[in-house]
Amino acid sequence: MAVRKIVEWPSLALRSDTHDLDPTSGETAKIYQDLVDTMESRKGIGIAAPQIGEPAKIFVISAFAAESDDLLPIPFINPEITWLGEDTMVEQEGCLSFPDIWLNVRRSLRCKIKASNLSGGIFEVEADGLYARALQHETDHLNAKLMVDFVSKIKKESVKKKLKRNRR
Ligand code: ZN
Repeated sequence: MAVRKIVEWPSLALRSDTHDLDPTSGETAKIYQDLVDTMESRKGIGIAAPQIGEPAKIFVISAFAAESDDLLPIPFINPEITWLGEDTMVEQEGCLSFPDIWLNVRRSLRCKIKASNLSGGIFEVEADGLYARALQHETDHLNAKLMVDFVSKIKKESVKKKLKRNRR
């Protein structure tokens, strides 16, 4: 169990290729636990492995965002979005790698995703609203894509300045 340091943009670690995981391995269980501890320490609703410096295909979503009765955050191992709904919506989004930054991002209102759980079982969920947005945001992390890629170059520069200012 460990709260890890969160990798912040524009670190290149957020742009690494990620590798598949053996869902039932000790390595995966450890990354899962570290993701949970780190996310909960920052009251996030989702976090992906590259954000703690692990170039691996796993993210977690809080039970709150997933509207789950389960108390533990839900792991998505080697996930794949299998369907994106046609209807889209622009909403403000945050990210633990961009502290105190909120950006307008257009995403599908609904999506389906397939992933492994920690026992190696494959599951598929259909999500909407906040859950669907979080799933798309976290899957992007595993593909080296970030919310800042959705905004203009000028906006991107202003985000960079603001983060630099906030770090002082
Ligand atoms: Zn993020």
